[in-house]
Amino acid sequence: MSDARIVVIVPAAGAGTRFGGEIPKQFRQLGGKPLVQRVVERFLFDSRVTRVVVPVAEMLLSVVSQSNEDRVAFVAGGATRLQSVARGLEHAGDADLIAVHDAVRPFFALETFHAALAAAQEHGAALPVIPLADTVHVVAENRILSTPDRSTLAAAQTPQCFRAEVLRDVVARAQRDGDDATDEAGLAAKYGHTVKTVPGDSMNFKITRLEDLAMAERVLAEWGGES
Ligand code: C5P
Repeated sequence: MSDARIVVIVPAAGAGTRFGGEIPKQFRQLGGKPLVQRVVERFLFDSRVTRVVVPVAEMLLSVVSQSNEDRVAFVAGGATRLQSVARGLEHAGDADLIAVHDAVRPFFALETFHAALAAAQEHGAALPVIPLADTVHVVAENRILSTPDRSTLAAAQTPQCFRAEVLRDVVARAQRDGDDATDEAGLAAKYGHTVKTVPGDSMNFKITRLEDLAMAERVLAEWGGES
């Protein structure tokens, strides 16, 4: 993997209004920096990452596109996450391996990233997962319909890593089918690719609600301000 060209796509073009308010969650400040900036900087620590592509809402492009770091490219995202990833792929050049990472997971470990890259290079695609602490039911109209065996379930995290040709194939097929999944690894499995799992990490949580942001601030304070 040492000479593989590695590109990371961080889709950040969502309206992200679950927080309420005007600012999409990926641009909320954590320890004085926008979440998406923290994520990009963490990937830049890895000298093997040749480029980080960040699809953002077109109207934000002029605000965010000045980066001094030539490995970062802000590009116009699309109407859905999948379309934003597709736009990102247009700027992935001749990458060998491509990772897709949620802009709102600032605490991913580089070791996890590297494990997923290695597994993707060998098998085609890989993602970090964690076992579920809660029992999960299938429900409808306030009633349990069924209860899957928890030992067969895993919660998906990112970075999800792919050989470039696998991700390009998956995104093209999903766009053709109009499948707007929020998880590229699931799509890869659906289209018959092998998708390996690597151990995720409970610290790699997704900041989707205000209480997650408060928790993230506490984590950062405990770690002395650096994620
Ligand atoms: O809204 P949700 O949490 O499902 O979005 C998942 C990710 O996809 C977020 O990082 C969001 O910014 C991104 N996204 C995007 N383009 C869209 C919609 C969502 O890049 N049109």
